Amino acid sequence: MVSPSIWEKESFYAPADIVIAGSGFVGLWCAYYLRRAEPGRSVMIVDRGVIPTGASTRNAGFACFGSLTELIADSRQMGEGRMLELVEMRYRGLKRIRKTFSGKEIGYKSYGGFELIAGSDPMDMNAVRSSIDWLNRQLKKITKEQKTFRLQDDKIAGFGFAGISHLIENRTEGQLHPGKLCLALLRLVQSMGVTVLSNTEVLRYERTPDKLLLHTNHAFTLSANKLLICTNAFARQLLPQLDVEPARGQVLVTSPIAKLPFKGTFHYDQGFYYFRDLGDRVLLGGARNKAPEAEHTDEMVVTGQIQAELERMLRDVILPGRDYAIEHRWSGIMGMGKEKQPILQQVEEGIYCAVRMSGMGVALAPVMGERAAAMME
Ligand SMILES: Cc1cc2nc3c(=O)[nH]c(=O)nc-3n(C[C@H](O)[C@H](O)[C@H](O)COP(=O)(O)OP(=O)(O)OC[C@H]3O[C@@H](n4cnc5c(N)ncnc54)[C@H](O)[C@@H]3O)c2cc1C
Repeated sequence: MVSPSIWEKESFYAPADIVIAGSGFVGLWCAYYLRRAEPGRSVMIVDRGVIPTGASTRNAGFACFGSLTELIADSRQMGEGRMLELVEMRYRGLKRIRKTFSGKEIGYKSYGGFELIAGSDPMDMNAVRSSIDWLNRQLKKITKEQKTFRLQDDKIAGFGFAGISHLIENRTEGQLHPGKLCLALLRLVQSMGVTVLSNTEVLRYERTPDKLLLHTNHAFTLSANKLLICTNAFARQLLPQLDVEPARGQVLVTSPIAKLPFKGTFHYDQGFYYFRDLGDRVLLGGARNKAPEAEHTDEMVVTGQIQAELERMLRDVILPGRDYAIEHRWSGIMGMGKEKQPILQQVEEGIYCAVRMSGMGVALAPVMGERAAAMME
């Protein structure tokens, strides 16, 4: 291993007030709010990947806060109050993203989002209508919209989907380019004076009487007054006591399709499947529920079983009768737990964490950053 020079020790590796482990969306928004709250303090962010390599640059780019059936299921499971609290955080996060970056910078498109209800789904028309009315009343305070969700069954034929009985629209949903958002955030925090080190893994931390020592995969050790762990799905490496489990999400992207009949973000089967237009291509991800054991992993590969299921979904439901090829496939790792609420806490003196973003961390991350900065004051 290359030992650091005195110059490097006094600049790149200089002691910091706060070191953040993980430069995904959460780590980056935390760095942003920490510097904004106190521009004089030194903040360093380190990531073990050459670029952030977890979920933030590998997701589907939905700027969403939950589909109708997903929110109803959440309300049943966690209670109405906690479901609305999560929606409020996500909605506020999305607004923050749009206030901070121009649409062009992050590829933001306000095409709206839709949920597809399969013909085989037992939900009947009356049940769908009363669920929409109920949720719209609950969400009015958050979105300020009379009708956040609307039944739009007349659009099904135009979109060309097969086997779908209902389509529910949410015009406040959008889509963005996760890679561009990550890069824009990285540039923003660097312009604010945050030191960013890539290819640097925090292997463990050690407390000395006056500081924290962070042992890395290199010959240098970093030192800080406080450590903020934003490693999401990988959090148990440093904090084995946390309820955070890895969940792999697999994605594919088609070749360009002439006259693709839809634009927007689409949810299916309580969010287990999701697809969107990517210009004239289709990005489709999900199907984790078809192999929950196998997908409970942090191994960043794609598998034949899930990819075949995604291809079936494309062929039978999304693009029936169309010609296309699959041109890209990848996976990313989400951080899940028994609850959907993220974990934001002080773990012990000087050690904090903001992890477990489940499947909607794009929206949650800005609020996590804001709250983490307030917690660390
Ligand atoms: C396929 C897929 C599709 C998704 N689609 C959407 C979507 O459309 N909309 C949405 O809102 N959300 C989506 N998500 C979820 C969203 O991407 C995540 O919730 C969010 O990116 C989590 O951000 P994060 O910063 O907490 O974690 P991550 O982005 O995973 O960042 C954690 C970082 O920690 C680093 N790291 C790990 N261990 C260490 C260590 N010891 N030392 C230093 N660095 C370390 C990793 O390299 C990584 O860069 C999707 C996720 C996946 C996988």
